[in-house]
Amino acid sequence: MRLGLRPGGRRVLVAVAVAAVGWACGPPASTPTAPSNLLLITLDTLRADHVGCYGYQRPTTPAIDRFAATATRFEDVTCSMPTTLPSHWTIFTGLPPALHGVTRNGQVPESYPPSIFELLGRAGARTAAIVSAGVVDARYVQGLGFSEVIFDRSGAKVFQVSGQVVTDNALAWLQRHRDERFALWLHYYDPHEPYEPPGEMAARFTAGYRGDLPQALSTDWLVGLNDPAAEAALSAEDRQHVVDLYDAEVAFLDDRLGRVLAAVSELGLEGSTLVVIVADHGQAHGERSFWGHGERLLEPVIKVPLLVHLPGQREGRVVAAAVETLDLMPSLLEWFALEPIGGLPGRSLAGAVRGEAIAPAERRLVARRSFPEEPERAGLVIHRVSDKGTFYREPDGETFHIGHADGEGGLDGEDFFVAGDVGSAWLPSEVEHYLAAERAAAAGTSPEDLEMLRALGYVR
Ligand SMILES: [Zn+2]
Repeated sequence: MRLGLRPGGRRVLVAVAVAAVGWACGPPASTPTAPSNLLLITLDTLRADHVGCYGYQRPTTPAIDRFAATATRFEDVTCSMPTTLPSHWTIFTGLPPALHGVTRNGQVPESYPPSIFELLGRAGARTAAIVSAGVVDARYVQGLGFSEVIFDRSGAKVFQVSGQVVTDNALAWLQRHRDERFALWLHYYDPHEPYEPPGEMAARFTAGYRGDLPQALSTDWLVGLNDPAAEAALSAEDRQHVVDLYDAEVAFLDDRLGRVLAAVSELGLEGSTLVVIVADHGQAHGERSFWGHGERLLEPVIKVPLLVHLPGQREGRVVAAAVETLDLMPSLLEWFALEPIGGLPGRSLAGAVRGEAIAPAERRLVARRSFPEEPERAGLVIHRVSDKGTFYREPDGETFHIGHADGEGGLDGEDFFVAGDVGSAWLPSEVEHYLAAERAAAAGTSPEDLEMLRALGYVR
């Protein structure tokens, strides 16, 4: 069966066969069984290295850490783009932004490629989204297959709601629909700016601070730290205070998320529900003088946690191989026994969850930034087996950064050079190759174009 885009569609024509076979509704088992339900949880702005099971030393995430003890934890995960709406679209569709067409927040989609929620809905699951910020409200995501999008603002004109609201709605929703097949997305926004954790949690993480900064930091103030003068005014203690408040937001999120994870067991859903926890992007706190996300492709910004728990899974597993959030869609298709979708660039992670090795790709475009209103600006991160490079184009010039594949030096690493002074370095020619592919994709992509992109190496 060949599905085009729904009305208004123009960008991607993807061959997809919707074959709802293999749905199993068996009891909990000692070995993983095929799932009936999907619970996909996105934690907005959670950088991987502030999660306990990813090595963070502070007690920010006891609930996620407990979950990880019997889940598969992917150690090295890159998001497709450190911007909320495009990154979520990648998680749901398996397409990078240039191919799914959503390249900025606030962009009302023109077309809807097949998403995991649409396909599971067609196969009989009840679908829903419970979100906590306007950036992913119904205007921007409903067409991806959600029969309802709940953004519970209680009548107030607020841009975001707390994780408490998401959890309350999630617990009620799961209680109502526990006896149906379902595919539910929960979106938590607490770690995103502004940093204004509840008082008790703030006190727990900021005890000992003697500086002048308040216990709540506005978005404008945080983004304003990208002004060198504003950043220079911060003491070391102030900088730590910013991190403390972020950690307090993460801990608050984790506490509320923990109640949902506990409910999955309490409602008897553990043996039938596949649970995914992933972040859309991370967050920088002054690394290389950058604060926030979106603009720079630094490791704290593009490295995210990814954990998967299959029904009945009893043992934890760690996958060290580098993977991407766009690998999730082909994985979900395999786990739910849906037909693979032609043209998806990602790899299924199902084998890795079974303990099979993932062969490193020779080269991959793993992340990019995009500014549709500022075409003179661009950014790419390219991984190779042995090293990785980052490219930025700004109106005042281009810069290239080379780092090592093992993480030493980082993606914005020590080796730095500018266009015209690149010798035989591999990165500039790779950048041109991928920029051309991005332009081709953005111009509209037919199945034949997808074959071309695959031949170019843009699509694996
Ligand atoms: Zn986000």
